[in-house]
Amino acid sequence: MEAFSGMPSPLAAGAVFRPWHFLSWGLDALVLPTCLLCEQPLPLGRKPVAIRLPEVLCESCRRRWPKNDAARPKIRGIRALHNLWPYQGSVRPAVLAAKEEKGSPLLAAWAETAGDLWPTELGAKAPMLIPVPPSKVRRRRGWHFAAELAEAVARRRKWIYGPKVGVRMRRLREVPAQASLDRKSRKGNLRGCFQLKTGFWRQVPQRVCLVDDVVTTGATLREAARALQESGVKEVQAWVLARVPLRL
Ligand SMILES: [Zn+2]
Repeated sequence: MEAFSGMPSPLAAGAVFRPWHFLSWGLDALVLPTCLLCEQPLPLGRKPVAIRLPEVLCESCRRRWPKNDAARPKIRGIRALHNLWPYQGSVRPAVLAAKEEKGSPLLAAWAETAGDLWPTELGAKAPMLIPVPPSKVRRRRGWHFAAELAEAVARRRKWIYGPKVGVRMRRLREVPAQASLDRKSRKGNLRGCFQLKTGFWRQVPQRVCLVDDVVTTGATLREAARALQESGVKEVQAWVLARVPLRL
């Protein structure tokens, strides 16, 4: 007779089929969640209720989660910029993973978090949410973080997601990354690179909220707002997850 120690796998030869074995395997996966950033198992008993950031992270990643961003930088053409966190500490790798890795669980976590943390001051007369269009490289990857965020928030709050009703922004040309240019070439770099596209049956929305993942100098948002206003949009606001704190 073969000797073995420990629990036999439910699939082991000769094991009696017990459906709860499979159930307990499933439960293990549920009660032992891991940190979405460093994949360390979360302490027993700390099972997050919602997949919300930074609650789904381990202690050490949470410690490096920055405090909410209190600065509200002014951007020309934008009535209000709503920014949640500085692009620092654990926020940075969490944004990068969602942007770069297809199917990253962080994408779902951010979408959930964004839906919950959307500022209430936007809520009374909800604007149409439109993501800032991705560059060609990002488009080729097949998913776009800003669009996923905007869609998730719109779904959660029952607001209108522009692209779903045929209202979207598109890039008319590809431009070099702002960071690769000197101050002078940066100024004209983005000029005229965005356009609002609406289906011929659709009116231009009165109020729009641009959605993006990270704002740096605000040049992209400023240019997108200019394109919207040129098309007849009356009021533009913007919402971003994170802001790069710049010493200007
Ligand atoms: Zn961690």
